[in-house]
Amino acid sequence: MVRYGEIFLKSETVKRRYISILTENIRLALESEGLTHRIETYRGRIMIYGDEPRRIATAAARTFGVVSTSVCTVTAADIEGLAATAVEHAERCLRPGMSFAVRARRSGVEGFGSQELAAAVGSAVLDRIPEARVDLTAPDYEISVEAREFGGLVYDEKIAGPGGLPYGTQGEVMALLSEGIDSPVASWLMMRRGCLMVHVNMHGGRFGGADAEKNVLQNHARLSTWVPGHPLDLLVVKMEPFFEAITGLKEPRYRCVLCKRFMLRVASLLANEWEATALVSGDNLGQVASQTLANMAVIAPAATVPVLRPLIGFDKTEVVDRARAIGTFQARPGDVGCTVAPRYPSTAAPAETIVKLEEEIDAAGLAERAAATVRRYRAKNGVVEEVG
Ligand code: ATP
Ligand code: MG
Repeated sequence: MVRYGEIFLKSETVKRRYISILTENIRLALESEGLTHRIETYRGRIMIYGDEPRRIATAAARTFGVVSTSVCTVTAADIEGLAATAVEHAERCLRPGMSFAVRARRSGVEGFGSQELAAAVGSAVLDRIPEARVDLTAPDYEISVEAREFGGLVYDEKIAGPGGLPYGTQGEVMALLSEGIDSPVASWLMMRRGCLMVHVNMHGGRFGGADAEKNVLQNHARLSTWVPGHPLDLLVVKMEPFFEAITGLKEPRYRCVLCKRFMLRVASLLANEWEATALVSGDNLGQVASQTLANMAVIAPAATVPVLRPLIGFDKTEVVDRARAIGTFQARPGDVGCTVAPRYPSTAAPAETIVKLEEEIDAAGLAERAAATVRRYRAKNGVVEEVG
C-alpha cells in the first residue's frame, strides 16, 4: 500500500494528473529494479501487487510524493477475515508482556463501524495472546486493519517515504551543482518538490581541484537514483577563461562575488536555452563570504530568471544529515579547493565596484562564450555517460 500526502488537497482534476504521474514514476522505479508488479489506484490509496512485496514496498518508498508504504496481507473485508489475519500478524510480532493497539479504518464497506472493527480485532488478539495488554497511546506494537471496497488489509509496519510532490509535476528547473555538500541537497529538495531537474556545473579547469569533476559526476549519478528510469542531464561549462580574467584584477577580495555572479549569468543563459523556469543553488545564509545578506543582494541581480535557494535557512548539521540520508555526502572529497578564492574575501562588495570590474573583464562576453562550451552528461539509475 502506498500513501501519498499533499496530493489529497488538490482539486479532482489536478489530483488525477498527479496520481497518474506518481504511478508512472513508481512503475519506472519498480521496472528499474526488475520487479514485476501490478498497480491499482483506488480512492486515496495506491495498491501494488507482486511476488516480492518487501522489495516493492522499499522501492516505492523512495518515490517523491510518497509519504509511506506498507506491506499488507490482503483478506476479506469483514470483521472475521480481518480479525483472523490480524491474529496471524500479532503471533509473529507481539510477545507476552508487550502492549499493543489496533487501528481500524473502514471505507466503502457497510455493516459495521471502525470502532466495532477495532474492538473485535483487539479481543481476537487478546484471546490468542492473553499476556499482551492494550495501550492506545504508546503501544509497543501497532496493528492496522482496513476494510475497503477492494478488500481487507492488515499491516503492522510503515516504511517512510520522502514526501513531496511527484517528480515532473512542477515544471523544469536548473540546479547549479558543485562537488560540495550543499548543492546536491538543494537539487534533491527541488526534485522532491516535483521539479524536473537539469544540472549545470562550472568547471574550474586548472584553477579548480583535481577531484572536483569526479565528485560532481558522483553527486549527479547519486541524485539520478532518486528518479529511477528518468534521464538526468548535467551540463558542464568551462570557467577557466573567466578565472584567468579575474586573477588579473588588482583587488582579490571581490573574486567570490564576481564568480557567483558569473555562474548565475551563465546558468541564466543555459536556463533559457533549456527552457528551465528557475535556477536552484545551495546558498545558505551566512555560511561563507559570498552568502552574507549584503553580498547575496549584489549577486542575485546577475540572474535573469528566479533563483531558488531551498537551503537558505538550514543549519550546516541539517544539510550534512540530509546529504547522508540522500547518499551524496562524501567524507573524503579529496582535492576540491578553489585556488582563486582570496584569503580575505569581502563580505559586503559595493555594487558599483562590481559593475566596473565586470566591464573591465567583459564578464558578459565571457559568459556568452562559456555558455557555448557545454559538455553534456546523462545519468540514469546511477550510471553516467557523456552524450555530447
Ligand atoms: P556547495 O557545498 O554546494 O559547493 P558551498 O557551501 O561550497 O556550496 P559556494 O561554493 O559558495 O558554497 O557555492 C554556493 C552555491 O553556488 C552552491 O551551492 C552551488 O549551487 C553553486 N556553485 C558553487 N560552485 C559551483 C560550481 N563549480 N558549479 C556550479 N555551481 C556551483
Ligand atoms: Mg562549494
